[in-house]
Amino acid sequence: MQEESTFDIVIIGGGLAGLTCALALVDYCKVLLVEKESFPNHKVCGEYVSNEVLPYLQSLGVDPLQHGAKQINTLEISTHTGAVVKSNLPLGGFGMSRYALDMLLYKAVSDRCTIVQDTITEISFVDEMFRVNAKNGDVFSAPHVVGAYGKRSNLDKLLNRKFIQEKSPWLAVKAHYTYDFDDTKVALHNFNGGYCGLSKVETNAVNACYLTTYASFKKSNSIVQFQNETMSANPHLAHFFKDAVPLFSEPLTISQISFNTKQPVENHMFMIGDTAGLIHPLCGNGMAMAIHSAKLFSELYLAHKKQKQSRDALELNYSRAWQENFSRRLQTGRRIQNVLLRPSLAKAAFTTARMFPSLVPEVIKKTHGTILV
Ligand SMILES: Cc1cc2nc3c(=O)[nH]c(=O)nc-3n(C[C@H](O)[C@H](O)[C@H](O)COP(=O)(O)OP(=O)(O)OC[C@H]3O[C@@H](n4cnc5c(N)ncnc54)[C@H](O)[C@@H]3O)c2cc1C
Repeated sequence: MQEESTFDIVIIGGGLAGLTCALALVDYCKVLLVEKESFPNHKVCGEYVSNEVLPYLQSLGVDPLQHGAKQINTLEISTHTGAVVKSNLPLGGFGMSRYALDMLLYKAVSDRCTIVQDTITEISFVDEMFRVNAKNGDVFSAPHVVGAYGKRSNLDKLLNRKFIQEKSPWLAVKAHYTYDFDDTKVALHNFNGGYCGLSKVETNAVNACYLTTYASFKKSNSIVQFQNETMSANPHLAHFFKDAVPLFSEPLTISQISFNTKQPVENHMFMIGDTAGLIHPLCGNGMAMAIHSAKLFSELYLAHKKQKQSRDALELNYSRAWQENFSRRLQTGRRIQNVLLRPSLAKAAFTTARMFPSLVPEVIKKTHGTILV
């Protein structure tokens, strides 16, 4: 069946960025959100969210703290050999599974917005209108399309985006475990070729999520072997994988994770969340950036509508706002990642951090924003 419907905005992707954008716009215009998966679902993510977006989420009627999110205020980082640096987190954050957080947003918006479960496969822009085709044959049209489809999708190939043509050396694994762990702490344990984040979520499970290079991972025959050998050279991870009881039948995995530069506006589409750029996960700021970029876009779009600005003006204003808010954070994230993955540089950085502990919160601040209102 082929059906064509017209909207003010089509949002492609119903993760944090897409759902937040829909929620921010739904009272003011006709919004369609298309998500290929059903809600709720687990996602590969460290599940530590910076508090910078908490008041904004609450203003949209979504309060993770009322749904059991853990309040986190301490960071513990360890080197490949287990030496530890501890720091307070300047803004702090909360621990909540993506299963629960995305669902909270979905519930807040689903009664008021058209949400379709399908995969977008084609997009064209002719005479100031987008036509967006879904896999099942439906066609949607709108003057504006928001790309909120995450870090990597079939659409990046379709749009011929530059980063998709380059191979990426990263893969990531995530699972939940039963394990005795401090509710208020997020730990980042380094190992040869990557790092693993541990923090609690609303169910009291500990989320273990790690990022590693293929070069390091391919020396093992399986995830279990990798965890028990390469990762467990760090005594904190050895302890974790020895005692933790897995709650998933299999860990979730994703591959080809690219941290290369992307553009916030491409082919007249407004990119938000990871579709505009992915910060290194060790910064713990990707989700806040996804929510923040949705806020930036929705506010600029509503002003554009009210003031009857041109499309060019909206594109320029959003690109500028995105760069001003996020490009420095992404650069800092890349630099920290480069240091942590080189054992000699990491050792020097840890020695400095131990001598001057007040430096750690300062570095963290450079990868985060301020409280959004
Ligand atoms: C290993 C790892 C650990 C991380 N840990 C943290 C952390 O602890 N804290 C933090 O803040 N950030 C973390 N991040 C980053 C964070 O996960 C992302 O920044 C965040 O998920 C971005 O949300 P999003 O809405 O942009 O994308 P997503 O949540 O990925 O949503 C995109 C959605 O688009 C849908 N989609 C894709 N293609 C199509 C299509 N063609 N049609 C329809 N739908 C489509 C997908 O199904 C998906 O639901 C981590 C990332 C990684 C890789």
